[in-house]
Amino acid sequence: MIIIMEPGATKQQIDNVVEHLKSHGFRINLNYGDVMTVIAAIGDKRLVQPHSLNSFEGVREVKLIQEPFKLASRESQKEDTVIEFPNGVKIGGLERPVIMAGPCSVEREIDGLLEVAYAAKEMGCQILRGGAFKPRTSPYDFQGMEEKGLQYLAEAREKTGLLVVTEVMDTLDLPLVEDYADIVQIGARNMQNFKLLKAVGKYSKPVMLKRGPAATIREFLLAAEHILYNGNPNVILCERGIKGFDSTYTRNTLDLAAVPIIKKYSHLPIIVDPSHGTGKRYLIEPMSKAALVAGAHGIMMEVHHDPDRAYSDGAQSLNIEQFKKVMASINQLIGRIDYSNKHAVV
Ligand code: PEP
Ligand code: MN
Repeated sequence: MIIIMEPGATKQQIDNVVEHLKSHGFRINLNYGDVMTVIAAIGDKRLVQPHSLNSFEGVREVKLIQEPFKLASRESQKEDTVIEFPNGVKIGGLERPVIMAGPCSVEREIDGLLEVAYAAKEMGCQILRGGAFKPRTSPYDFQGMEEKGLQYLAEAREKTGLLVVTEVMDTLDLPLVEDYADIVQIGARNMQNFKLLKAVGKYSKPVMLKRGPAATIREFLLAAEHILYNGNPNVILCERGIKGFDSTYTRNTLDLAAVPIIKKYSHLPIIVDPSHGTGKRYLIEPMSKAALVAGAHGIMMEVHHDPDRAYSDGAQSLNIEQFKKVMASINQLIGRIDYSNKHAVV
């Protein structure tokens, strides 16, 4: 870390910082400038927490050289993480991007879900999405079908061969969700539910972690770090929009720059969810394409057999006809992107 001292810092104040660090095994490189002194310290940050140095007299600023996430970082693993499923689907690296599609909630009878699942299969998607445990802002809104919904998803998988991604909201439900899901989703609201992150870290199924509505990219990667640290290397990140100041035309602000940034700093796959990212079905196609050109490893979109009657997120869900058109156009784009290259080039 780098410690920048105040212009008027005394020799005693500088020595106090240096001695404190040295006593915890840090190697020190001192640079006396005309105006300020800069201390470069190399050592184990668990022994001296960088922020604790801010309370030393004469310290102006403490800067980190290495990213605080270790296992998720490119420094710890140069090669991209590629997650491979028993049916041959791969997510990450230079693999063809995957498309996850399905309703926001699994609801009512199974027929609607099957209709979407067959369309997803026909259009070349690999993964069926659908929530059986729903995080809802209001307790009066539909909360999900729970195990019955998981059973519907399993039946749709059986019939189509699609993999299933579905959300878990609570550690108590984790064994049940793990039984049915191919990928366990941690929703945006739970990105910093550290108990849940630790719990999925101890399970073996791949985890899709969604970015919190107000999370920085660093906080997002640190949340992923909890899962990796607890033993599960198969983490997929999902950018789903963050809270912006303008919700006139969109529900969230979809941060597409997060895609190349995460690819630069981490080896983990990153996918984009334009449905929650924008809240508008007409924005799914342009934002999916932009995400793919930016290098996303996949897209997750909401599709409903009858969006006007959906129990949740109908306005950001495509109907089946619209979905087929969007997929045809996305497939065409994917065919034109050069995936032999590290960066997606059209
Ligand atoms: C979802 O994908 O079903 C969902 C609830 O999304 P988010 O957690 O991003 O709001
Ligand atoms: Mn939704």
